[in-house]
Amino acid sequence: MNSATDVWEGGLGSSSGELGHNLMDHHFRCGASGKIEGYEDKYYFGRKPGGIYIPRFRNIGNDKRDYLRGFGYQGGASRQNWQRTIAEYSVGAELKEALSEPGSWTMGLGAFGEILPYHDNKITLDKNVKDKWGLPVLNIDAEIKENEKKMRADMMNDAAEMLEAAGLKDVHTYDSVYGFGQGIHEMGTARMGRDPKTSVLNGNNQVWDAKNVFVTDGACMTSAACVNPSLTYMALTARAADFAVKELKKGNL
Ligand SMILES: Cc1cc2nc3c(=O)[nH]c(=O)nc-3n(C[C@H](O)[C@H](O)[C@H](O)COP(=O)(O)OP(=O)(O)OC[C@H]3O[C@@H](n4cnc5c(N)ncnc54)[C@H](O)[C@@H]3O)c2cc1C
Repeated sequence: MNSATDVWEGGLGSSSGELGHNLMDHHFRCGASGKIEGYEDKYYFGRKPGGIYIPRFRNIGNDKRDYLRGFGYQGGASRQNWQRTIAEYSVGAELKEALSEPGSWTMGLGAFGEILPYHDNKITLDKNVKDKWGLPVLNIDAEIKENEKKMRADMMNDAAEMLEAAGLKDVHTYDSVYGFGQGIHEMGTARMGRDPKTSVLNGNNQVWDAKNVFVTDGACMTSAACVNPSLTYMALTARAADFAVKELKKGNL
């Protein structure tokens, strides 16, 4: 966006009007957790039990929700640590005694949900404010909308239902409120596409407006899915590099 503004006012590759738009992330910080009764004589040393992943199951097959797309869960079980004693307000010997024993087992499921690509979720360069290197600072103007808000209800309630079905006690849902970008999986601001009028990159991650420029990070994504994204960026990057080498050898670049 800082480059070639003499040719393209909105920056290199901005002729479609999509550069900087369709910003996506994964919305999260909601789910459920509960207590597991028993296993008080069990503890782990060294190899802590691994976390679990539950792939997306909503809006797949015959399942139809009143929102699009879905979410996956990342979760795990652990024993309560010393922080549980804060609630007891104990001091001295009583506190020491309490800390000599691990707490009860708990298990949590935290959802990661898909954010749809909205044209008005965007980044722009601030023409007035510069950072310490003299570059314009980035303005981020994005929010989750109705689709994601409806999804969040399922993200909490489905987790609680599964934990209860698994026999957990004191199951409670939580929504710790998501702020855009907290998922640190930013995507979409140089979307790939078939039509130079509606996308910034072609299917080989080449900038339509400047074929010798390749953008292979999360900016190329047209949808966010609900899974961690970086392996996909790596695969797209390997494919684009392979393509670039072949094009170079043919003399097309
Ligand atoms: C705390 C955290 C946890 C994460 N966990 C996961 C996870 O579990 N799974 C997952 O899939 N993703 C995760 N992500 C996201 C993941 O890290 C990013 O998607 C990924 O690193 C993006 O890779 P990239 O190569 O596109 O960009 P980056 O890794 O950001 O690399 C860009 C590089 O360009 C350099 N650079 C920038 N400007 C210039 C310039 N002007 N000149 C020269 N160099 C420049 C930067 O220094 C940097 O080295 C996480 C992110 C964070 C912050």
